[in-house]
Amino acid sequence: MPGPQQRAAALDRLRAMPHWDVLVVGGGASGLGCAVDAAARGYRTLLVERGDFAGGTSSRSTKLIHGGVRYLRQGDLALVRRALVERARLLANAAPLVRPLPFVIPAHSRADLLRFAAGLKLYDLLAGARGVAPSATLGHAQTLAALPGLRDDGVVGGVRYWDAQFDDARLAIALMRSAVDLGATCLNYCAVTGLLKSGGKVRGACLRDAESGETFEAPAAVVVNAAGVYADAVRRLDDAGAMPLLTPSQGAHLVVDAGFLPGDAALLVPETEDGRVLFAIPWLGKVLIGTTDTPRDDLPDDPLPFADEVDFLLRAAGRVLARPPTRADVRSAFAGLRPLLGRPAGATATAALSREHIVHVAGSGLVTVAGGKWTTYRWMAEQVIDRAAAVAGLPPGACVTHGLPLHAAAGDEAGLPGADRRLHPALPWSEATVRFAVRHEAARTVEDVLARRTRACFVDAFAAGEAAVRVGEIIAEELSLSPSRQAALVAAACAQAARCALA
Ligand SMILES: Cc1cc2nc3c(=O)[nH]c(=O)nc-3n(C[C@H](O)[C@H](O)[C@H](O)COP(=O)(O)OP(=O)(O)OC[C@H]3O[C@@H](n4cnc5c(N)ncnc54)[C@H](O)[C@@H]3O)c2cc1C
Repeated sequence: MPGPQQRAAALDRLRAMPHWDVLVVGGGASGLGCAVDAAARGYRTLLVERGDFAGGTSSRSTKLIHGGVRYLRQGDLALVRRALVERARLLANAAPLVRPLPFVIPAHSRADLLRFAAGLKLYDLLAGARGVAPSATLGHAQTLAALPGLRDDGVVGGVRYWDAQFDDARLAIALMRSAVDLGATCLNYCAVTGLLKSGGKVRGACLRDAESGETFEAPAAVVVNAAGVYADAVRRLDDAGAMPLLTPSQGAHLVVDAGFLPGDAALLVPETEDGRVLFAIPWLGKVLIGTTDTPRDDLPDDPLPFADEVDFLLRAAGRVLARPPTRADVRSAFAGLRPLLGRPAGATATAALSREHIVHVAGSGLVTVAGGKWTTYRWMAEQVIDRAAAVAGLPPGACVTHGLPLHAAAGDEAGLPGADRRLHPALPWSEATVRFAVRHEAARTVEDVLARRTRACFVDAFAAGEAAVRVGEIIAEELSLSPSRQAALVAAACAQAARCALA
């Protein structure tokens, strides 16, 4: 069914459905994972996202499916082991969107080399039979060969280990399509504006379609709040005095040309000037450099790197790369807000706490999932839907997502017009990609296509800005948009591209 009809059918279901089993708020990794899990158990599932799927943090990550060498250093072995289990599942269920990636940690002293090698052997042990490949100690020449862009100033050797890389927004779309395949209704540009309550219990939600302004009431046995850094705001719709669960923190990335770190391996610097880990990772023909950790509580929808974050990343990269990148080399800059758990002051006896995420059940029955990371979304969703089903008294159903292959990662664009016409000489995507995104992946705006169905805005914001007009023409054709709506979508996408280009 073409895109416009799909959305119309989903809105019709909203109007007609007398009662949902599970209503999920938020279309990022956490919410989409919950929708897949709930639908796979046979529950009537509705997911609503007020912007685009993965428009929040879930398209702005470092794009690693990893155990987390950082957590290893912190001694959180259980967390690392769990993430490594989920890494293996994702490599099996979401290939080729998730793929193995070698990392090299350069060492500048023998003591560091031994320390890194021992740490990564422990990482291997924790992965056990699910490991991608064992870590290995490299000599000086091997380290420089593995990382051709590395600055050779006192490097004595390095350690190579394996983790996995993914395309976060594309995995989100694969999850959305998997949920729909399983019978769920998933709607972007549809916000939860209030909660339906009776007898002190949450009985559903009030929704607003951002495109038409139409409002709906969606009764549901249980509401799952998976609103990322906005989860506390959704909790306040239930209880105005709810204590915050989250302490958001911004992380920024810069994207530069592949020439700064040619080759297939990623570089990990275990300690920068302020003790943070720095990654430089080959991604979609570019190099992704990140990240930072800056507390931020104003929660903008489209956070941008602060000037001092850009300076820090350029300085830190310049210390380890033979050719230090400058601001003029940045092809794109982006930031995301981590939903980090704060002190669980609002936790009650019904809260199930863990080091990385929390599943919180309010007295009203509102189920909130907060914290966690992309890598563990499936495991989180399993726990959330177990709790949600119990809270709502739904017939118990076993989680089946452990071995569930996700919807095919890439779109089949063959046969669509424009397969042989590139959107821009510097971008690998074609005009057919845009049509496919609108018809089959719920893209509604120029920005949806440039930022999340393709990753143009993230890999080359300059080229993305230049492609916006053509993308707008194709979307207008596909969705029969008015000239004024088309112009507004192009203008919004150009403005976003300019922000990512640090203009
Ligand atoms: C810089 C950075 C790097 C990271 N790197 C990695 C990594 O490499 N690997 C990894 O595993 N994890 C990583 N993470 C963590 C991971 O990205 C997040 O844990 C994950 O994306 C959070 O997903 P989420 O669904 O909880 O939140 P989000 O993706 O923010 O989704 C929440 C959604 O809820 C929607 N929403 C809010 N209010 C409403 C409402 N009222 N109605 C409807 N919808 C609403 C929002 O629009 C938003 O889209 C990183 C995070 C950051 C910030």
